[in-house]
Amino acid sequence: MDNLIITHSDLLPLRLLFGTAPSQKTLAGGAFSPFVNKYHQHRSCRTVLSRPVNAAAAAASTMASLLDLVPAAKKETLDFDLPRYDASKRSTVDLAVVGGGPAGLAIAQRVAEAGLSVCSIDPFPNLVWPNNYGVWVDEFAAMDLLDCLDATWASASVHIDDVTCKHLSRPYARVNRRQLKSRMLAACLSNGVCFHQSKVLNVVHEDSRSILFCSDGVAIPAAVVLDATGFSRCLVRYQKPYNPGYQVAYGVLAEVEDHPFELDRMVFMDWRDSHLDRNPELKRRNAAFPTFLYAMPFSSDRIFLEETSLVARPGLAMEDIQERMALRLSHLGIRVKLIEEDERCVIPMGGPLPILPQRVLGIGGTAGMVHPSTGYMVARTLAAAPTVADAIVRYLGGGGGGGGGGEDISARVWKDLWPIERRRQREFFCFGMDVLLKLDLEGTRRFFDAFFNLEPRYWHGFLSSRLFLPELVAFGISLFRHASATCRLEIMAKGTVPLVNMVNNLLQDGKS
Ligand SMILES: Cc1cc2nc3c(=O)[nH]c(=O)nc-3n(C[C@H](O)[C@H](O)[C@H](O)COP(=O)(O)OP(=O)(O)OC[C@H]3O[C@@H](n4cnc5c(N)ncnc54)[C@H](O)[C@@H]3O)c2cc1C
Repeated sequence: MDNLIITHSDLLPLRLLFGTAPSQKTLAGGAFSPFVNKYHQHRSCRTVLSRPVNAAAAAASTMASLLDLVPAAKKETLDFDLPRYDASKRSTVDLAVVGGGPAGLAIAQRVAEAGLSVCSIDPFPNLVWPNNYGVWVDEFAAMDLLDCLDATWASASVHIDDVTCKHLSRPYARVNRRQLKSRMLAACLSNGVCFHQSKVLNVVHEDSRSILFCSDGVAIPAAVVLDATGFSRCLVRYQKPYNPGYQVAYGVLAEVEDHPFELDRMVFMDWRDSHLDRNPELKRRNAAFPTFLYAMPFSSDRIFLEETSLVARPGLAMEDIQERMALRLSHLGIRVKLIEEDERCVIPMGGPLPILPQRVLGIGGTAGMVHPSTGYMVARTLAAAPTVADAIVRYLGGGGGGGGGGEDISARVWKDLWPIERRRQREFFCFGMDVLLKLDLEGTRRFFDAFFNLEPRYWHGFLSSRLFLPELVAFGISLFRHASATCRLEIMAKGTVPLVNMVNNLLQDGKS
């Protein structure tokens, strides 16, 4: 029987993940006491049994007892006494924000700061967000959010293959999600945002207000409704068939015996595949649909490791990615002692924008703001939040911009969120995604070899959504010039149809 280890949401055979099963000493020496204690409890139980246990039953009981740990570990909460929306008065708020992720809270705090009444609705308003966000330091510096980073690396590396490794001299960081959410909640509190702990089920629109219906039976009337529910896309509507690409990744924050990475350099992408040499089937699959390792080393024995499929349609299976990761870690000699937390990442990328305009406003994942070629979004959303918030304030009449009916206000805010320049930029990024979707491992390697040879202003600007169409055309030409002959041919062969689609979409959008 494989020994089983439980991460917060998954079971992995230890044989795969560790190379060999961990020793009793390894397990006992860990720093994450709830896990260790529970695991120990179980192991000690097993040692007192005098006869062999049924493997399946033992595995099931291991799973059941260890899964008990999931809520405790996942539900890290913040100690805020949040003022509640008074449902008995049923008063109409200026803005109801559905979803308390980074996008929703960024808007709530700023609109309330301008003096409007705001209600934030989320089933878990005090919970620390679950995702491990990585950003470029300059993106957070520009928003004065450096205090919300908990680890930084002076540079990043990209392993193209076993021979070529590029060093990117652009500092990278992990977001301190506890600090960022605390800072946003504190700002919400001081500006009078009220909270309602529930899930929104539906919205009904009247001429000058909308009414939100929540799962606890409470109805909340609001002049303007903003959907910030991430990829659940609770209220925002999409017209065309929704056919995004998917970034799929499996990540663990782990305590390890050792790892081979330098501590002042994070691994942005590792496309090496020699860990699959002994597994022809996986090697072949990876050659067709490649995955890479993303790693943030915090110390010599604590590291975040994530195996990532950049984009695929349909997305890769999580089990496939986990299998590749286990083999990679074993090949790199990384022996995991404990898993502090894990994350399963499924990010829809590209695809159509929401219907523009529509009565319900959107921001963040629900509003098509994820970068279609990279899957990154948090910095772009936080940077866009003031524009959206200020537009809401202005069009609701608080900022001297004149009021208007519900539909009218929404139309104007959507225009400020997705002006023509941003829509063109996104179209170009979708073109980038369509090319990436067609590249196999060798093609992907050639692409990133050329991409990271570009002048920094180009690749920085592309990754951080700072280039607009004229600059993006210059970026494309420069990329083509830096590419090898094979890569150029490949881009021409595989990029022609996406290019024609992009031009068509741009022309159509220009007419509307
Ligand atoms: C695992 C993972 C890792 C990621 N890592 C990065 C990264 O490193 N860098 C980066 O830039 N981007 C990253 N992203 C992409 C993106 O930045 C995140 O998904 C980000 O959290 C999106 O923010 P959001 O506020 O739009 O939505 P979310 O953070 O998803 O927040 C949505 C909120 O809405 C609430 N909600 C949902 N439905 C309802 C409802 N019906 N009623 C009320 N509330 C509701 C949820 O409880 C949640 O609190 C990652 C995404 C994932 C999934």
